[in-house]
Amino acid sequence: MKGLKGKNALVTGATSGIGQAIAVRLAQEGVNVAINYRQSPDDASDTLEMLELACEEIRGCGVKNVLVQGDVSQEKDVMEMVNTAIENLGSLDILINNAGIQIESAAHETKIEDFDRVLAVNLRGAYICAREAIKHFLDRQIPGIIINVSSVHEIIPRPHYLSYSISKGGMGNLTKTLALEYASQGIRVNAIAPGATITPINKAWINDPEEKAKVESHIPMNRAGTAEEMAATVAFLASEETTYITGQTLFIDGGLTLYHDFSEPWSA
Ligand code: NAD
Repeated sequence: MKGLKGKNALVTGATSGIGQAIAVRLAQEGVNVAINYRQSPDDASDTLEMLELACEEIRGCGVKNVLVQGDVSQEKDVMEMVNTAIENLGSLDILINNAGIQIESAAHETKIEDFDRVLAVNLRGAYICAREAIKHFLDRQIPGIIINVSSVHEIIPRPHYLSYSISKGGMGNLTKTLALEYASQGIRVNAIAPGATITPINKAWINDPEEKAKVESHIPMNRAGTAEEMAATVAFLASEETTYITGQTLFIDGGLTLYHDFSEPWSA
């Protein structure tokens, strides 16, 4: 895609699912990628393997990559992670805030530590990463790009996942506020909002045909999305095909946000 070759990106939570697919897709587009893992570098081995395989298939992407440790909820980790990415890649043009978790429980039974943890990773973590990236963009006058991985739950309430819903609702506002604050400096901030996607976060249903069919029955396109479909849209938003788009959340959900229940008239 236009304008991606030779750029440098940091992808948080790049050891599985959507983050992994984004790292691979960006590398295929010629982007040097800093692959964030939370605990052990071994967790990133699948991503590295997939990236090398994908690059071989297109006769070498000629890209650099570096593994960067960091728990995005820890300010110190994030500062070190962003510095390591910049030192190894030379600079940073693109930040993908992808790391995310969810913890299920009824709102009235949720432990406050669990509530705080989800907000700390999904929202506060995304902000700290954005803050560190923006400092660098401004220092070096880079027209940087931030893409937040939000969710359809940015707008659809999700009972039993209150903290998750709040975190993604907040991410919508994080996206818009940062986009407005830095638009005049050439920094673009957008989000993607995946619907139900086949990744480990959905281990409860992705390998169970009955449960999967139940989930898919709510989706107008009758199927869950793939991590690669999410990654393709991230590449598009990071590319020079979208230089006039900022502050937007792009829903990639097979029609999930189109109110499936209204596909047939309820009354004459
Ligand atoms: P996943 O569980 O495969 O990936 C989550 C990634 O985040 C993992 O690599 C994990 O190690 C990392 N991570 C978790 N806590 C972290 C921390 N504190 N610091 C750094 N990394 C951390 O699931 P996924 O579906 O690929 O999720 C990626 C993003 O997509 C999340 O933000 C999630 O909310 C969002 N999303 C997923 C779906 C879906 O249906 N899969 C739908 C909407 C939004």
